[in-house]
Amino acid sequence: MTSSTSTVVNGGISFWYADDGLPAVREPLAGDTSADVAIVGGGYTGLWTAYYLKKAAPFLRITVLEQRFCGYGASGRNGGWLYNGVAGRDRYARLHGHEAAVRLQRAMNDTVGEVVRAAEEEGIEADIHRGGVLEVARTPAQAARLRAFHEAESAFGEKDRELYGARETAERITVAGAVASTWTPHGARVHPVKLVKGLAAAVEALGVTIHESTPVTEIRPQHAVTPYGTVRAPYVLRCTEGFTANLKGQRRTWLPMNSSMIATEPLTDGQWEAVGWAGRETLGDMAHAYMYAQRTADGRIALGGRGVPYRFGSRTDADGRTQTATVQALRRILVSFFPALAGVRIEHAWSGVLGVPRDWCASVTLDRSTGIGWAGGYVGSGVATANLAARTLRDLVRLDSGQGGRTELTELPWAGHRVRRWEPEPLRWLGVRGLYAAYRAADRREAATHAAETSRIARAADRVTGRH
Ligand SMILES: Cc1cc2nc3c(=O)[nH]c(=O)nc-3n(C[C@H](O)[C@H](O)[C@H](O)COP(=O)(O)OP(=O)(O)OC[C@H]3O[C@@H](n4cnc5c(N)ncnc54)[C@H](O)[C@@H]3O)c2cc1C
Repeated sequence: MTSSTSTVVNGGISFWYADDGLPAVREPLAGDTSADVAIVGGGYTGLWTAYYLKKAAPFLRITVLEQRFCGYGASGRNGGWLYNGVAGRDRYARLHGHEAAVRLQRAMNDTVGEVVRAAEEEGIEADIHRGGVLEVARTPAQAARLRAFHEAESAFGEKDRELYGARETAERITVAGAVASTWTPHGARVHPVKLVKGLAAAVEALGVTIHESTPVTEIRPQHAVTPYGTVRAPYVLRCTEGFTANLKGQRRTWLPMNSSMIATEPLTDGQWEAVGWAGRETLGDMAHAYMYAQRTADGRIALGGRGVPYRFGSRTDADGRTQTATVQALRRILVSFFPALAGVRIEHAWSGVLGVPRDWCASVTLDRSTGIGWAGGYVGSGVATANLAARTLRDLVRLDSGQGGRTELTELPWAGHRVRRWEPEPLRWLGVRGLYAAYRAADRREAATHAAETSRIARAADRVTGRH
């Protein structure tokens, strides 16, 4: 370990909990019971689903079952990019036509505003700042991808997106070597934990029952089974994203992909002057093994990227601990972006898992024959997507129970989408390891050769994995 990473707090779920405090844990389930809707998982997906269902039908008895505490998963660990990206849009365009995918994209654009609106209505103070999203290119190949990305987003209706050259980029954020960037207003920075804690409190205040320290071991039609009893309900909704593989029968459903983050100490005014970033945009890049970052409300940089991407057998992590090598790799990215921060102290490092379906498409499904529903597979862009998925799941439940009709959301192309399962081990492990080794090699090659084209290695990896 280098001296600058030796004092890092590693794990502890995430920096966001070190900042805002771990919550008091709610009572576990105490014996068999019944509900109208049982929701498994207390992250953004489960909690927003409970929120919108209860708002639509206050008489519904809704129980949320959470293995640890609400926000224990990715919802309490993410980079706080509340933005309009949705995994699978381009594939949905191929499957259902361009117009259907545009509807999904428009719904996502509106979702950023909906989260901000609902947080305001519920008095949730989550350090929200609507500065948009800035994505930068630092090599000719990245710049070519950035332009193609910008054009594709414009074709999906984002007329308010802007393309910048090196100078305009530097006027926003001084990223070393940035040659171009694209900015969209459809994004905001959030404090993930303040959002999830506030949401859990709002849901409870509406009359939803939340049991924590209550792991569900099996979901069967009309049953959510736990060691402390079974909740019987006509609808059981699985909102477990990156943890789904731990449930009986779900080992190969969504692959738990790891993402890791670091948070610096608060920067000095002088350091901020060197960095810029007055607009507090969320910041990302166009590398294959991309980074994402935010300027926190208390003046730090929180930056994330891919560490060890996947653990054999779909294992998840121990309370967010990440590898020392990953901390060092993220630190190198930070300093390469902002050389003026070479001496800055990293205070916290952590990791979490997100859910990746075999076709990399987020989806929302209610199986009408069993009453079992699920939403997720957001592939790393779930902060806003979970909200739209929750409202879609609400409408599917209301449609099925005869309380509501078809809506714009039930007709989105992701409703009812099914996908094949991942390969068994060791193929799963070898495939994902190979994929990220290929992406890292492609990034190195593009940087070394200054080629204007995306490396063939990355294109081949995309084809083999079905990512694009
Ligand atoms: C490090 C990291 C950075 C990220 N950054 C961003 C970002 O900046 N922007 C963005 O859009 N997305 C980001 N994501 C993804 C985003 O955080 C997730 O897509 C989103 O939070 C998923 O919410 P969820 O409720 O579906 O899942 P989770 O938040 O993972 O919630 C699932 C919950 O289910 C519980 N659970 C699991 N299994 C069981 C069980 N058997 N019984 C009971 N409870 C169970 C878990 O404890 C957990 O609380 C990031 C993810 C990670 C890991």
